[in-house]
Amino acid sequence: MQDYQVIIAGGGPAGSSCAIFLGRKGIKTLLLDKASFPRDKTCGDGITGKSAGILKELGIEERIVEKQHEKINGLITSSPSGTEIDFNTSDGTLGESLYVCKRQIFDNILFEEAKKSVDVIEKFTVTDLVMDNNMVVGIRGVDNDGNEKGFGAKIVVGADGANSVVARKLGLNDFQTDRSLVSVRAYYENVADTRDRIEFHFLEELLPGYFWIFPAGNNVANVGVAVVASDVPKRKLNLKTALENIVKNSRFAPRFKNAKQISDVKGWNLPTGAQKRKRAGDGFLLVGDAASLIDPFTGEGIGNALLSGKLAAEAAADAINKNDFSYGTLKAYEAKIRDYMEKEFETNYRFQKFGKNAIMFNALVEELSADKNSMKIATSAFSDTTRKTTSFQIPLGLYFKVFVRYLKDYIEFKMKGKYKKA
Ligand SMILES: Cc1cc2nc3c(=O)[nH]c(=O)nc-3n(C[C@H](O)[C@H](O)[C@H](O)COP(=O)(O)OP(=O)(O)OC[C@H]3O[C@@H](n4cnc5c(N)ncnc54)[C@H](O)[C@@H]3O)c2cc1C
Repeated sequence: MQDYQVIIAGGGPAGSSCAIFLGRKGIKTLLLDKASFPRDKTCGDGITGKSAGILKELGIEERIVEKQHEKINGLITSSPSGTEIDFNTSDGTLGESLYVCKRQIFDNILFEEAKKSVDVIEKFTVTDLVMDNNMVVGIRGVDNDGNEKGFGAKIVVGADGANSVVARKLGLNDFQTDRSLVSVRAYYENVADTRDRIEFHFLEELLPGYFWIFPAGNNVANVGVAVVASDVPKRKLNLKTALENIVKNSRFAPRFKNAKQISDVKGWNLPTGAQKRKRAGDGFLLVGDAASLIDPFTGEGIGNALLSGKLAAEAAADAINKNDFSYGTLKAYEAKIRDYMEKEFETNYRFQKFGKNAIMFNALVEELSADKNSMKIATSAFSDTTRKTTSFQIPLGLYFKVFVRYLKDYIEFKMKGKYKKA
């Protein structure tokens, strides 16, 4: 078995980011992926502030900007009752510009950058871990010709996404449906009225999930729905049908009248940070979706994937310096993840639960739309480049106003049997 200091299973944003940081530290690293790049990944393609922060640090943000993408200067959201808010960079209610960049392009830029400083094997499927006295000491897998191969490593990084083989082999692949999301998306051409805005529409049938329209450049939009996974059986939802109904039969139908669906509808699981997972152990680290690091409310995972890749590289470098690959040393990575992300997971999971109530959600959007300062804080979830500060800073007065409005609307709903439309 050929030996490496670090082996990374999976070359998505988490794995490639980890590889680039390790490669630049001169650490002998092997990056493996079952796909051949450029490859697609089912996603909304929304690249927010946290991603931009790491891309800048890696010095490759310009390459994303040069490639086909849409620069986003605003974020439109609407409540179940139809009230819309337009947060945007020109009036300061959105802090930073965002991007929408197809994953086929985005991931390839990162993967190509990783290739410059680490060994890479594509079309290699990791199938198992090599263990020595409960310590992970390598991986086994199958190459493109069907040959079984093994590689040894001091540390194995599981970056193999939502269905991670590494996490599964370690018994760490729990998917608690009430704390996870599922989502589908398709590309459409010629959707009317898309501007330099990403749109999240909180429709009653999906709450606390949403319907999105993200312009992806060249008159193409990434369109999809995301819901809490446990709501699929509970509400007998078929996400593909839900998406078709929204674009054909709802208030969005006029915008899709002349639009053409140009891809299949594809779906995937989103393991979120609302579910606590062990993310390090003897000889291993988990990053990105394999570590369950997606935002439980917004469904964004690219930023935390990139950041966790960086933090894992730092932890691996430290372990190599100390020549200690046990959990005792690697648990510093778990502490960093908690430090950077736990608060945002807790807050946004609370938002997810709160968002199940349509009347409460309507009240929040109505009150938020009247308060520019709070609007800016709310969008920090998308603009912040390291930790998200959303909602811990929203003034108490706003919560009070939301609650009063909620009580009024709730009484009206009880009397009339339907809630107030905007
Ligand atoms: C429909 C949908 C919409 C989304 N929209 C957004 C959005 O707009 N913005 C956002 O920030 N996040 C979004 N997300 C979440 C985002 O896609 C993920 O959080 C992100 O891709 C995680 O990156 P990763 O590197 O951890 O995993 P991945 O991107 O899944 O990469 C994992 C890699 O591992 C490889 N791999 C898997 N198994 C093996 C194996 N056995 N052996 C070798 N290689 C393997 C795969 O080929 C892949 O290249 C969305 C998710 C879904 C499902």
